Amino acid sequence: MDFAFDARTQELRAKLLTFMEQYVYPAETTAHEQRLRLKSPWDTPAVVEELKAEARSQGLWNLFLPDAEHGAGLSNLQYAPLAEITGRSPHLAPTALNCAAPDTGNMEVLAQFGSDEQQKRWLEPLLAGEIRSAFAMTEPEVASSDATNIETRIAKEGDEYVITGRKWYISGAMNPDCKIFIVMGKTDPDNADVRRQQSMVLVPRDTPGVEVRRAMQVYGYEDHSHGGHAEVVFHGARVPVENLVGEEGGGFAIAQARLGPGRIHHCMRLIGMAERAIELMCRRAVARTAFGKPIAQQGVVQEWIADARVAVEQLRLLVLKTAWLMDTVGNRGAHTEIQAIKIATPRTVLDIIDKAVQVHGAGGVSQDFPLAELWAAARTLRIADGPDEVHQRSLARRELKKYL
Ligand SMILES: Cc1cc2nc3c(=O)[nH]c(=O)nc-3n(C[C@H](O)[C@H](O)[C@H](O)COP(=O)(O)OP(=O)(O)OC[C@H]3O[C@@H](n4cnc5c(N)ncnc54)[C@H](O)[C@@H]3O)c2cc1C
Repeated sequence: MDFAFDARTQELRAKLLTFMEQYVYPAETTAHEQRLRLKSPWDTPAVVEELKAEARSQGLWNLFLPDAEHGAGLSNLQYAPLAEITGRSPHLAPTALNCAAPDTGNMEVLAQFGSDEQQKRWLEPLLAGEIRSAFAMTEPEVASSDATNIETRIAKEGDEYVITGRKWYISGAMNPDCKIFIVMGKTDPDNADVRRQQSMVLVPRDTPGVEVRRAMQVYGYEDHSHGGHAEVVFHGARVPVENLVGEEGGGFAIAQARLGPGRIHHCMRLIGMAERAIELMCRRAVARTAFGKPIAQQGVVQEWIADARVAVEQLRLLVLKTAWLMDTVGNRGAHTEIQAIKIATPRTVLDIIDKAVQVHGAGGVSQDFPLAELWAAARTLRIADGPDEVHQRSLARRELKKYL
């Protein structure tokens, strides 16, 4: 077993680490200050466009896409350590590199299932970082972790689809640069096969009948840098039948295909978030003194730091193994491991960030350190892209099958 990075990964890692130090970390404060002066907080601060231009000129662009025709052509194993580094600044770095969710998953869907016309109209500007996109599946009225529950109707009328339904927590949709929604709904609600009822259609933002109603919050954060998480209502919005992605009844399968890579990308970035939290925890612990000695010399704090290091090393190995499996036996073959990392990573990283918050005292929950926002972001990943319990149920069933 070889744990070393190959030459291409090493080169990209070195470049990316320098890019983070030179451009991304300094831009964190600038982005925040610029946002306060924007006409709308959902607009993109100028510094983000500058970061994108710089990243692109350095070849740090579309690294997530294994398809060499459209993306960088990296394997999952090569991309994993790079995504981890971007996770250290999760509100800026993934966007700077055009590697941010939900655009990454949407680009994968368009690259894999989009028609030539759809690719030209939507994939090309997304790959160029000129527009953003959203993926609209979850609905407030039904338990959406079970996608067969989705109620949004996609009804065929002549040469159009008419879309009626209400979605929420649609990431990115508040950003006016988000020009296209991939909408999941039912074209055939009476089909006896509940997994063939759904389809996906492309709905341009400016389609009459599309209402981006409000920004949902995450523990009080509006997540401006991610373009928010919107409630979106489709009031009989009409699109041409050519906007169907893949085939009618294929929506469920496309959603499954989309989620595998999305889940591992989240886990890779979460490890970067944990590394940032450990760094902040250690810096704070050596810099502050309480009751006559540095906080770093308190046994309990040392335990937290040691446990955090052990946990991160374990997680990273499991994520890298999963990436390697995805590359070698495919996403289906890596199903159990993808579920394992999606269960283990958010909750472990959440605990690490929580300890870092504790070491910072009041500062930890304040706006002066990134920890509170990192915690809120990590917490959502125990729900988004499949709640922990859904993955546990499915993993346990697979495990039990061996004994039945
Ligand atoms: C910040 C954020 C961003 C998001 N971005 C998007 C997006 O861009 N697009 C999009 O479509 N959606 C998005 N979502 C929604 C997310 O994917 C859903 O919230 C998730 O799939 C769960 O669906 P639900 O909220 O309807 O929960 P429900 O399905 O109602 O489930 C609630 C709870 O029930 C329990 N549960 C469910 N099933 C089982 C089971 N089989 N066994 C045991 N317990 C179970 C779990 O504890 C689960 O958390 C986002 C969510 C958040 C928080």
